[in-house]
Amino acid sequence: MINDVVRVRFAPSPTGYLHVGGLRTALYNYLFAKHNNGVFVLRIEDTDRNRYVEGAVENLISTMKWNGLGYDEGPEVGGEYGPYFQSQRLEIYNKHVNELIAKGNAYRCFCSAERIQKLREEQQVQKLQAKYDKHCLNLTKEEIENKIQAGEQFVIRLNVPANQRIIIEDIVRGNVEFNSDTVDDQILIKSDGFPTYHLANVVDDHLMKITHVIRGEEWLSSTPKHVLLYDFLGWEKPKFAHLPLLLNPDKSKLSKRQGDVAVEDYQKKGYLKEALINFVALLGWNAGDDVEIYEIEQLIEKFSLERVNKAGAVFNVEKLDWLNFEHLKKKPNAEILIMLKEELKHSKYAEINFSDEYLLNVIDSMKERVNFVKEFIDKSFYYFESPTEFDEKVIQKSWKEDTPQQLTELRSAFEKIDNPKKEDFENALRSTAEKLNVGAGKLIHPLRLAVSGTGQGPGLFDLLYTLGKEEVIKRINTALETIKPN
Ligand code: GLU
Repeated sequence: MINDVVRVRFAPSPTGYLHVGGLRTALYNYLFAKHNNGVFVLRIEDTDRNRYVEGAVENLISTMKWNGLGYDEGPEVGGEYGPYFQSQRLEIYNKHVNELIAKGNAYRCFCSAERIQKLREEQQVQKLQAKYDKHCLNLTKEEIENKIQAGEQFVIRLNVPANQRIIIEDIVRGNVEFNSDTVDDQILIKSDGFPTYHLANVVDDHLMKITHVIRGEEWLSSTPKHVLLYDFLGWEKPKFAHLPLLLNPDKSKLSKRQGDVAVEDYQKKGYLKEALINFVALLGWNAGDDVEIYEIEQLIEKFSLERVNKAGAVFNVEKLDWLNFEHLKKKPNAEILIMLKEELKHSKYAEINFSDEYLLNVIDSMKERVNFVKEFIDKSFYYFESPTEFDEKVIQKSWKEDTPQQLTELRSAFEKIDNPKKEDFENALRSTAEKLNVGAGKLIHPLRLAVSGTGQGPGLFDLLYTLGKEEVIKRINTALETIKPN
């Protein structure tokens, strides 16, 4: 290995938002670093000036922070191998490309866009791979000098040797072999003087002492170019691990068209970072057992590149919802309280003041019934406002002619108890049922309807206890006035 310490990097191009595939790459790098007591580097690959998006880096960093993926070196935190923005490393790339030119492994190309276009078209007609034809490789030193003097624009290309086997040793995919004839003379430096991804990526991975390159499978086809660069520059190659593609449920490549791909969309929808991390970790990796619910610490302990799959990983939002439910259930109520208060601030109940004690009771009774924090509000609105409408179907089914009289009886039983606890409500209901000589169900269903307007929800006595005696009596009265027996 290049050095004893594992050093990995997440190297996004800041295009505006963090893609869930990017989150997976970042996470696997993070887990691998932490598992091996290594270093996790964030490097911003911002050499494509056409794709520059204002605020993209800040957005990316804040999304990584939200997910808890702290990095050891990179923007804001610094480090020994900076700068960590490629746009600030231009001289470094130039130095190395000059070395490549001197050795004959790279050359200047003055071909016009029109010539390249024509070449492409000819190759297309002949059904050949689109490749540069090394036209400018034959220019003499003098010709090159003259063109530069005349101010002609040029790019610098990789001089790919003919018919060579290029073998990539990949931890996930095993040995992958390419023939150099299929590799284009890649542009290394563009006419604006900026490097392309390939050159900058290799130079930086080397200078930043990266030991393992862990990235999406879409970069595998670029790796032969990288391997050539390492060899030409006489550098030891890092180990490669290419992660499987993310797929839509119909097995097509994960795309915006079939759902959200930006991490912030999931954040905005109220997914917990624990659930998202857990979900993304399982997109292409498993520990070889049946465990599906993980906290980050367990992922760090279990993670290995050897257990990353080759086959594409299907992005199944239902599974994410289920994981959100599981992680929400695991959270201490006090933590959920903070989130619920935040949700309430943005709801139509923002002006109403609910006590912490009240909200904690709401959480306790609903925790097993919601996937998202905001569902505490949407699914159990009756905790936040009195029902004004009553479910017609439930009325049909359980509001009988004798119901008003029975509920009136029950109301007086409730009125007699001071500060009723859950059990007090229950005892009062059961003894009233006995007194009226009816089954408890005869009272339970209409009572639930009266206090919540619906036929389902948390345990009835939890609901009564949380609402409190006064409110329960008030709601029974409203129901008695509003609901007409059928
Ligand atoms: N800048 C590339 C990207 O946007 C990095 C690929 C790599 O990790 O080598 O994904």
